[in-house]
Amino acid sequence: MFQKKYVVFAASWLMCVAACTSGPKPAQADGPSASDVADVWKDYDTGKVLFEDKAPTTEGSKIYHRIVTAPEDYIQEQARTVLATLYDSPADSIAPVHEIHYTLEDIDGVSAKGGDHGNISIFYSTRHIEKSFAGQDTAKLFFETRGVLLHELTHAYQLEPQGIGNYGNSKVFWAFIEGMADAVRVANGGFHGEQDRPKGGNYMDGYRTAGYFFVWLRDHKDRDFLKKFNRSTLEVVPWSFDGAIKYALGEEYSIDALWHEYQVAVGDVKE
Ligand SMILES: [Zn+2]
Repeated sequence: MFQKKYVVFAASWLMCVAACTSGPKPAQADGPSASDVADVWKDYDTGKVLFEDKAPTTEGSKIYHRIVTAPEDYIQEQARTVLATLYDSPADSIAPVHEIHYTLEDIDGVSAKGGDHGNISIFYSTRHIEKSFAGQDTAKLFFETRGVLLHELTHAYQLEPQGIGNYGNSKVFWAFIEGMADAVRVANGGFHGEQDRPKGGNYMDGYRTAGYFFVWLRDHKDRDFLKKFNRSTLEVVPWSFDGAIKYALGEEYSIDALWHEYQVAVGDVKE
């Protein structure tokens, strides 16, 4: 019984965000502008946001409330930014979200999303808040808080690959899910541009390594790439990176050739 309970708990908190390296200056946001988001998504039901501070006596909690004065409104605003990055319009097939239970907790780690079938839980660690505020730099903490939130909210609204297993047992599934979450963060100015971009590696490393690559594909191959890549999970079954690339960009493309082209273009490898 204990064993079973542990497994369930572990599985429900798999989607952790990698610790962010923080530099001095926020990058320019190059995602959808605030007015675009407001126009198309302002009436979309993002799901009810329930904010709960489970660590009100911690320093991290006090700092959080100083920089985010209306958490539920703030989380909804970021949710609309995520939706505008992943979808064309509210008429698309969108992963439904009924409720987002967002908690501040006095635990290790950064932040993670749990739950499914539209009932989402996201925690944010007050210990991480304290660490991110070590230099008393409010702008830096706000930047980190927004970036982490964009990543976790992507897990709430993104579509998932079909026919290849799940997050826990498929590296391809995992790399896509985590790569897209950081792609949405990159696309909305949630990292410090080139200085936060991991050098080398492979798209199968997920997270930022894949995320910067996906945004590069958007910038150099198709401006709707992230939306098409997200939608590919509905059309390419069983899902694969190569199948999804062909769906989004055309039969003449392959994921490995594009990765090589990207690596050359950004100067990580020689021709
Ligand atoms: Zn994640």
